[in-house]
Amino acid sequence: VARRTFVVVGGGLCGQRAVETLREEGFDGRVVLLAEEDEPPYDRPPLSKEFLQSDLPPEEVRLRPSGWYRENDVELRTGEAAVALDPHRREVRLQGGGRVRYDACLIATGSRVRRLRVPGADLPGVHYLRTLDDAARIRADAQRARRVAVVGAGFVGAEVAASCRRRGMEVTLIEPLPAPLARTLGEDLGGILAEIHREHGVELHMGEAVAAFRGGGRVEQVVGGSGRTYDCDFAVVGVGVVPAAEWLDGSGLRVEDGVVVDRLCRTSADGVYAAGDVARWPYRPTGEALRVEHWDNAGAQGAAAARAMLGAEVPYDPVPYFWSDQYDLRLQHVGHASRWDRVVRRGDTAGRSFSAFYMEGDRLLAALCVNRARDAMAARRLIGAGIHPSPDQLADEAVDLRRLARGS
Ligand SMILES: Cc1cc2nc3c(=O)[nH]c(=O)nc-3n(C[C@H](O)[C@H](O)[C@H](O)COP(=O)(O)OP(=O)(O)OC[C@H]3O[C@@H](n4cnc5c(N)ncnc54)[C@H](O)[C@@H]3O)c2cc1C
Repeated sequence: VARRTFVVVGGGLCGQRAVETLREEGFDGRVVLLAEEDEPPYDRPPLSKEFLQSDLPPEEVRLRPSGWYRENDVELRTGEAAVALDPHRREVRLQGGGRVRYDACLIATGSRVRRLRVPGADLPGVHYLRTLDDAARIRADAQRARRVAVVGAGFVGAEVAASCRRRGMEVTLIEPLPAPLARTLGEDLGGILAEIHREHGVELHMGEAVAAFRGGGRVEQVVGGSGRTYDCDFAVVGVGVVPAAEWLDGSGLRVEDGVVVDRLCRTSADGVYAAGDVARWPYRPTGEALRVEHWDNAGAQGAAAARAMLGAEVPYDPVPYFWSDQYDLRLQHVGHASRWDRVVRRGDTAGRSFSAFYMEGDRLLAALCVNRARDAMAARRLIGAGIHPSPDQLADEAVDLRRLARGS
């Protein structure tokens, strides 16, 4: 019998967890991992945190030591971008003209940064942060510069601002919305984050879009939509990401802001699966098709997809979770709410240990927990189990959420 070939496209966390799971589950066929970057798979969360704050060597963020791939008989092909998928011939075409035939294929190409299209956006010193190379360039600038302008106060921008403050730099944070993270957290909670950044010495300019970057040969100023200018030695732009699915144009796969999959991570093409940041999957608690950009999902769905490729019929049924570290705060967010009509708080907002529960009607949709890991884990279980405590219960410190989550 011919050895089966499983091809995983994308050498991020999702692809890594998938190939690991294939071997853990005893798959003895050929495993090919195609990775566009020259680096073996590495972890992204440290890039805006430890890596930027310290002199952590790049090897420290690798997901596995380089010998792991040979030991586990995984053909890791770095610097190999997939440019097309042909579901009829069951092959993936590579940038260099090569092809790889598959019996099953996992799309794990993640996200790419959204780029600003304003004058001066291509000036040297205007950075984005997605890859280890990006992070190394930003760190090199941070080592010799004094002033940074951070454009976009989403999670990555907020973390870069916090990390640069930790390095003692002057930080200007510019965001078109009225508060940091306003889209995910709402203006009230975003306002608390704004306060925290101000307390740590960040100069915040909310409600300010970026109109241009200026400089002679290198960025020296960010120009706001208001006409104001902000001096800087370099800039970091964090205005979101888009799914890396453009290479699937012409494949016939269903792609709608992400590759659409079912609960077994199957795409619309036979033998083709998708997982991680690039995939859009059915979210049971709200019935929506959801795409998230979270580390936890990338790993767990990569593993789930690998098991599905091996024939397992266990539905992938998660409650999303992500965290963010800023200064001495650990933010944890569970669930998903694109809209809500009530936010219930528990704990001490001023003391920076509190949770906020996002509700629609009497349904608990999501929670943001600041320095409260226990609340986060309990809320995740509540949402997964479809248990909806009353606002009074959620607000009352005396009510043990973990007990409610156990259904007692
Ligand atoms: C700076 C930063 C900080 C973060 N911090 C947090 C955090 O604190 N908490 C959290 O929950 N999440 C965090 N995230 C998000 C988290 O890292 C992502 O959700 C996760 O990396 C997604 O994994 P993935 O494997 O699906 O995609 P990716 O990590 O994007 O990996 C996909 C890989 O596929 C490659 N690729 C793309 N196209 C092709 C192609 N055509 N052919 C071959 N290869 C291709 C890419 O080069 C990339 O290496 C952070 C992200 C960044 C950038």
